[in-house]
Amino acid sequence: MERSLKVRPIENGTVIDHITKGKALNVYRVLNIGKETTVTIAMYVPSKKYGKKDILKIEGVELSEEDVNKIALISPNATINIIKNRNVVKKFKVKIPDFITGILKCTNPNCITNIERVSGKFKVEKKNPLKIRCIYCEKFLNTIEIPK
Ligand SMILES: [Zn+2]
Repeated sequence: MERSLKVRPIENGTVIDHITKGKALNVYRVLNIGKETTVTIAMYVPSKKYGKKDILKIEGVELSEEDVNKIALISPNATINIIKNRNVVKKFKVKIPDFITGILKCTNPNCITNIERVSGKFKVEKKNPLKIRCIYCEKFLNTIEIPK
């Protein structure tokens, strides 16, 4: 009963479940989805597993791999549910990739990627806490900011 209320399937689209509490808006902000996409955001929902969690329901949209990787960087325990005709047709946990291309920006102002505007490449050295190193200048990122 409780469960059907929280993850009630939408007609078609994506439900991002188990988002770290308070992070739903951060996730929403970085997703590359249409401006007028119908989105339902639930925050601080009681969860057996994590105490509290956030949920994002996006109607009519299947997320790109890049969007899923962005979600992993913000909320590594999130699960993605793909909904078709009100049924969950695919369900998976996001995974922080070992290498990241293009999503992030190097925080070293002297890095070649910032001087010549080449797209960044990064290696994830540690996942918890997250430590990401630039492949070009070999420096760790000071902050992990994900631009849209
Ligand atoms: Zn760099």
